[in-house]
Amino acid sequence: MAGLGNIYADEVLYKAKIHPERKAKTLTEKEIGKLCHEMVQTLEDSISAGGSSVNTYMDSMGLSGSYQERLQVYGRNGEACIDCGTILEKTKAAGRGTHFCPTCQKNS
Ligand SMILES: [Zn+2]
Repeated sequence: MAGLGNIYADEVLYKAKIHPERKAKTLTEKEIGKLCHEMVQTLEDSISAGGSSVNTYMDSMGLSGSYQERLQVYGRNGEACIDCGTILEKTKAAGRGTHFCPTCQKNS
């Protein structure tokens, strides 16, 4: 996820239901497939929301109100998960703050 930005990484991992502290080598083929799918999907969403490149995308995720409303996990620690109602948590993974749902995103 290096270089992709915290917001993007948090959102993609949440959608793929993968815990932020999972080691890459423990991911199953199915999970990797899901992760790739969600990465593409998230980029396509941002483009349809008005972005035209990864840079525009990052700007729009950081600044644009319309995209911010669509964020499902980033910055929502302490609020209920959209999927299951569990309170979202913020942890430190790989030296950065990460937002995730402890129920939807299994660490195993
Ligand atoms: Zn959840």
